[in-house]
This record gives sequence, structure tokens and C-alpha cells, in this order.
Amino acid sequence: MGVNGNLVTVEFDESVCQNEVAYVIKDGLRLIAEVIRVRGRFADMQVFESTAGITVGDPVELTGELLSVELGPGLLATVYDGLQNPLDVIAARHGFFLPRGEQVEALPRDRAWAFTPRAAVGDRLRAGDTLGVVTEELFEHRIMVPFGVVGAASVVEIVGPGEHTVSDRIAVVADAAGKRRDVAMMQTWPVKRPIRCYAERLRPTEQLVTKMRVLDTFFPVAKGGTYCIPGPFGAGKTVLQQLTSRHADVDVVIVAACGERAGEVVETLREFPVLTDPRTGRSLMERTVIICNTSSMPVAAREASVYTAVTIAEYYRQMGLQVLLLADSTSRWAQALREVSGRLEEIPGEEAFPAYLESVIAAFYERAGCVRLNDGSMGSVTIGGTVSPAGGDFEEPVTQSTLKVVGAFHGLSRQRSDARRYPAIDPLESWSKYASIVPERELRVAREVLAKGHEVQEMMKVVEEEGTAMADFVLYLKAEYLDAVYLQQDAFDPVDGASSAARQRHVFARLARIMAAETDFPDKDTARAFFQTLTQVTKDWNRAAMESAEFGAVEARLESLLAEVARDA
Ligand code: ADP
Ligand code: MG
Repeated sequence: MGVNGNLVTVEFDESVCQNEVAYVIKDGLRLIAEVIRVRGRFADMQVFESTAGITVGDPVELTGELLSVELGPGLLATVYDGLQNPLDVIAARHGFFLPRGEQVEALPRDRAWAFTPRAAVGDRLRAGDTLGVVTEELFEHRIMVPFGVVGAASVVEIVGPGEHTVSDRIAVVADAAGKRRDVAMMQTWPVKRPIRCYAERLRPTEQLVTKMRVLDTFFPVAKGGTYCIPGPFGAGKTVLQQLTSRHADVDVVIVAACGERAGEVVETLREFPVLTDPRTGRSLMERTVIICNTSSMPVAAREASVYTAVTIAEYYRQMGLQVLLLADSTSRWAQALREVSGRLEEIPGEEAFPAYLESVIAAFYERAGCVRLNDGSMGSVTIGGTVSPAGGDFEEPVTQSTLKVVGAFHGLSRQRSDARRYPAIDPLESWSKYASIVPERELRVAREVLAKGHEVQEMMKVVEEEGTAMADFVLYLKAEYLDAVYLQQDAFDPVDGASSAARQRHVFARLARIMAAETDFPDKDTARAFFQTLTQVTKDWNRAAMESAEFGAVEARLESLLAEVARDA
């Protein structure tokens, strides 16, 4: 046996398979590891914990199982580490950090859940079909035929309504060959294998409304789609993801918090429980699962965390729910891949990332999707990942590999965040392949104004205001206006902070008319003053609830302001 950082090479006699879980036994401790490469009679294993003290000759125990998570009621509202150890249990038992060699059960074994059967003896079901339900937080949590069951299975036994723990037997199913299998409310599933117990994968077409105007209107995301948020440090990636998890039109949010610094993950942990869910007025945590890891955790646990997160996301999708997985930041995950690859002495690709970086990233985002289940209900997993490229350089491999596979790109700009133009999404760099909630023709007008306004602004740096034609100057003012009242959004204002789809459609139609209006101004100062007033009034409008009398009154004011300057309104 050899030891190189977290990489341990072992010699074995029996058979070993790729990604199998093993334990290195050291001083009575069982250190969890995963087989990452098999070469002849040698296996390279990635140890998920500190390898300090491990020496040649220490025994290794192979489990024959792949790295798996526990799936069942009790996941919601929990904070886990990358190996699904619940942090609150660890904290209660051991203080903040899990001692080496300890594993904690992911789902509480002592909690009883009121099970209601939905299937009967003799029913023929398939993997992922519903046997019964329990109430978990706000949801009807489906207890399903284990995902590993192949072909049709018949229900041989099922318990009646009553209280059960996750490990109690609630049913017995027999597969096509007649082989019987006990079913509990909890099942385990290997994290690197997608859960595919659905009838059909659908194209993501339904909008996932985030209530952020710049996203829903300009750079939309679809349910079951993918998007990425690259941005330099401090540009607002984490804040943007928190806003999304709060307001997005989804049932369950899974957060994979991969810390750049431990402090950032702690921030997420501190903030989430106090955030309220606007839909229920209760804690957002009730429909959230957080998988966190910090750079102080071993590299392999960091690598595993995104898979743990996406597997839990797929599990809730299998219940017909809309799930949003937010990974922040995927760069830390990619760094973990780089470290592992380096230890294996693989031929490095660009910036020492493994040559297969692109395919690993693609395979992760591939697990997003909108599906039709066997019972006809629809579920979705939407994946949004932040990328934190060093120095904000989007040309680096992680950003580039991600851009090839995602459906939308929300690029954060340092310039915009420095100017406190939040959310700092760059309207000229970003894009989306999904359909907007507003009509394409209105969008075209607005995009053109933004692009041309920017050109004029660049030009004015050279020729100054005097050298700029009136028509160009007005374009610049219109772009600044649209930016101030629509792209920017005040996350702290109770009304402006979350803009419904209906409201965005209404407001954007009005703004599109302003963008398209031909205006007459005697001079530039008058034009500037006019747009200043318009900006103020529109900001008032943004703060007025759509149902209020004020909303209509301010809109009328906007109309009369425009009529004063429009050439032929
Ligand atoms: P990143 O994750 O990109 O490093 P953060 O999301 O932590 O950056 O944001 C850094 C800081 O910028 C926040 O602490 C906050 O002060 C400010 N900020 C970011 N986004 C917004 C926003 N939408 N509204 C107001 N302030 C914001
Ligand atoms: Mg951050």
C-alpha cells in the first residue's frame, strides 16, 4: 500500500470495482474512501478524511457498494456535509467537526412518520412508482418502489396506515423473476448514477419564474433547464442564488455550498434559516436541503458533494415536484477534480485541470431535466451553478466547459457590482436559449436600445457630449433609464424585490413603448432632466403594489410625461 495525500494505493486479492466504497482501518477507526482507479491488482483510493498516520500495511476493507446517499423522509430542512453527515447531529455529538472515522446516519432512525399506503397487494408497479405517502414539512413525500428494481414488480405485502420509522419494513415487492424484496421508507442510491425511473424526458419549455426582471425577461431559465453564473469575487453570485432560492417558482431547493472560504459557507448556514419563504411565511429551510463543504474538508468529500446534492434533487423530482439545485461555487468542485487528477498523475489539460473536465461538467448538468413520471405527473430538476474564475476571467476552462452545456449564461460584471447596479448581470454579455415571458418583439426593441446606448456611451468617452448627435444621446439616456428601472432591482424593497411574471409583462410592455417612442428635445440638458424625472417616477411605480391605486396613478403619470415629449404619441 502507498499513501500520497488523500490518495491511497492498495493491493487486493478479490475483485474490486471502480467507485466502490472502502474503509481504511487505522487504530480502530474506519476511514471512508472510494476506489477511483483500478490497475491490475492495485486500486487507487481517494480517502474522504485526513490520511494522517496511515501507513503501508494498514488493512483495507472493501464494501462492494458504490458511494451512496440515503433517500427518504427527513431530508428537508437538514444541513449535510458532502458525505451526507447531518451537521446538527455532528454538532450535538462532537462539536462542529466530525471526528475522523465517524459516520452519522443521514436520516434519523428514531423518528416516526405517519405512513398512508397508496398501493395494494397485487398492484403491479415499476421502480419509482408510489407505494404510499408521508407528510414531510409542506409536502406529500412519496414512498416509492426502490429505484434499483428492474422491470415490473408486484406488491406482495403492504402495511396499513400507521406510524413507522424510515427503516421499518412497509412493504414487500416481488420482481418479474419472483424474487422478493423488503421495502422500507428509506432507500440508498449511488450518487454518481442518475435516477432514471421516469416514462419520458421532456424538453424544458415551462419558465421557471425567479421574480428577478433581468432574468425572467432578458435571460430566462426553464424548469428542468440549466444555467451558470460566472462572476468575480464579490460580484454577487451568492446573493443572487439566495434571492433565487427564495423567490423562484419551485417546490424544493437543494443548495450545494462549496466554500471558497469556510466563512462563506457559514454565511449560507447562518442566513438560510432566518430567510422566510414568501409563499408560506415560514422558514425557507423547510423546503431546503443544504449540502455544504469548505476548503478545510478533504478534497474527495468536496468532489462528492455536488453528486450528493443532485441525487437528492432527482429524488424529489421523482415525487412530481419542481426542484432547483444551486451549486455555489462549481469552481471549488472543479479544483477538487484537479487535485485528484494531479495525485493520479494523469496527463493534465488546460490550467492543469484534467482533460476530462468538460465531460464531467457536462455529465453533471445533464442530470437536470424535466420528466414525465409513470403516473403522468411532471417533475423537474433545474441546475444553476456559479463559477468563480480567478480574476473574473471567463476564458478559463471551468467557465468555458460550463458554457458549452448550459442553457443560459448570467455573467456578473465587476463594473456593474462596483457601481452597485444590482443584480450585476451584464446585459450585453449574458444570454439564454429559453423563451422569455415577454413578447420577442418588445425584447428586440429593448436589446437594441441597450446595445446602441452602450456604443454611444463608449463613443462619448472620445467625442464628449457636445460631439454626440441628439438622437444618439437620447438612445444613451434610454439605455440608462431601462437599466435603472428594469435591469436593476432593489432586493430589499418588499415590492420591487420580487416581480411577478404578470407584473413584468405589464411593466415591460409600457417600457417597450417608451423605448420605441420618437422624442423631441430642444437640447441635451432638457433631455437629461426628462429622463431623470422619468426614472424617479418609474422607481416609484416599481415600489407600488400592482393591486394598489397608486400603481395605476403612477402609470398614468408616466403616460402623460411621455406625451409631453413624444413626437406623435
Ligand atoms: P460573490 O458570491 O460573487 O463573491 P456575494 O454574493 O457574496 O458575492 O456579494 C458580495 C456583496 O455584494 C454582498 O455582501 C452584498 O453587500 C453585495 N450585493 C451582492 N448582490 C447584491 C444585491 N442584489 N443587492 C444588494 N447588494 C448586493
Ligand atoms: Mg459567493
